Amino acid sequence: MFDSNYKNEIVEIAGHQVGLGENKLIKLPVDRLPTGLEVEIPVYVFNGIRPGPTLLIQGGLHGDEINSVELIRRLLVADSFQVVNGCVIVVPILNIFGFLSFSREVSGKDINRYFPGSKNGSLASRIAYYHTKAIAANIDFAIDFHTGGNQRSNYPQVRYTKGDAKGKLLAEIFNAPFMFESGLIHKSFRKEAHKHGIPVIVFEGGESKRLDNLAIEVGMQGVRNILSYFGFTGTPLAEYKKESIFVKKRRWLRAPIAGMFHAIKPNGAGIEKGDILGYVTDTYGTSSTAIKAPDQGYILALNHFPVVKRGDALFHVAEK
Ligand SMILES: [Zn+2]
Repeated sequence: MFDSNYKNEIVEIAGHQVGLGENKLIKLPVDRLPTGLEVEIPVYVFNGIRPGPTLLIQGGLHGDEINSVELIRRLLVADSFQVVNGCVIVVPILNIFGFLSFSREVSGKDINRYFPGSKNGSLASRIAYYHTKAIAANIDFAIDFHTGGNQRSNYPQVRYTKGDAKGKLLAEIFNAPFMFESGLIHKSFRKEAHKHGIPVIVFEGGESKRLDNLAIEVGMQGVRNILSYFGFTGTPLAEYKKESIFVKKRRWLRAPIAGMFHAIKPNGAGIEKGDILGYVTDTYGTSSTAIKAPDQGYILALNHFPVVKRGDALFHVAEK
């Protein structure tokens, strides 16, 4: 999958060098607050004793998507990055500002719409810039951890870029319950990496501002699968489990009327055409409208907010 033009003989981040066989925690400076406090993003570098590919594991690009932060924390606590071949760079929280303010964004801007960033741009743009210069320049591939939005929970799933065979292979090895292609968003980290031939897979599990143990466990196992298969922590594996369901077609089912939403089928459930997945009831009266499965498939995401307007997304479903 990788050519032997490895980048980890010396990994340099913000003036700090990490040689083969060294592990370092580097503080990447990104801002200075009006009070004079320097703001730094912690970056762990686990460099093996032998040259090999460099993997980035990244959480908290969206600051309120804390499953990503928690699953990386648990991997660090479990000492999962005992790297011997290649290098693993771990960023537990990229958007540290959003993490503090329980926000996806920083100062109203989504960092994931500002790559490759600018040295003199907004704070979001500067974080993207330092990331591109200091972190992305060192890597061969990446796993970017996310969650669904506010009260909209994604069943654990991996997305990769259409036409990116390496990304598809990584998604298979990760082995989440579901995997599918998704389009590149303008100025996103994944799009910028793709331009430079660096495959990025995006794991989505649970919803923002809430811990979801299933999503965390699946995310951790996915990292372990990738580390094992490529031999980061030992001898590379010849085989990997292929259990992930490949989703070809998917769509959102939306509220046909405004009112109260009641889901019946759980997130991740297999569904048959015509199954009643939930209801939207009139808020004051007794009328209710059933939400039916348009086809055989699965529920990929579920809205947990009961008060809905017409057109609000209720279920993200995979179709045959
Ligand atoms: Zn996100």
